[in-house]
Amino acid sequence: MNESTIIKPARCFAVVHTGSGFSHPCKNNAKVMSNGKAYCGVHDPARREAARPVREAKARAKFAQWRAEARAPQMKALLEAIRARCPGIHTTDQESGETFATLIDNILEGIDP
Ligand SMILES: [Zn+2]
Repeated sequence: MNESTIIKPARCFAVVHTGSGFSHPCKNNAKVMSNGKAYCGVHDPARREAARPVREAKARAKFAQWRAEARAPQMKALLEAIRARCPGIHTTDQESGETFATLIDNILEGIDP
């Protein structure tokens, strides 16, 4: 009589960093082999390499947003100072037909506090 044995599925080789200085082995079952090591779908090196441009673009966009937000209060203060003190701010621009104060108000509306 044959005996069945339960084959434990291979685990992913990757180590997961928790972000607080701790790390643990990935708990996912392996799906692919790469350079003789087993990886899950999340840590598949080929998949991660393919997703790298998207990941980097997201990081750049996030940084650009952070930089814009960091400067927003200074930009707002500068524009408000110009609107408050600049002579001729309520003079109508001949081309646009708007006053410079209105143009500054439009820009200020686009800046989040
Ligand atoms: Zn994994």
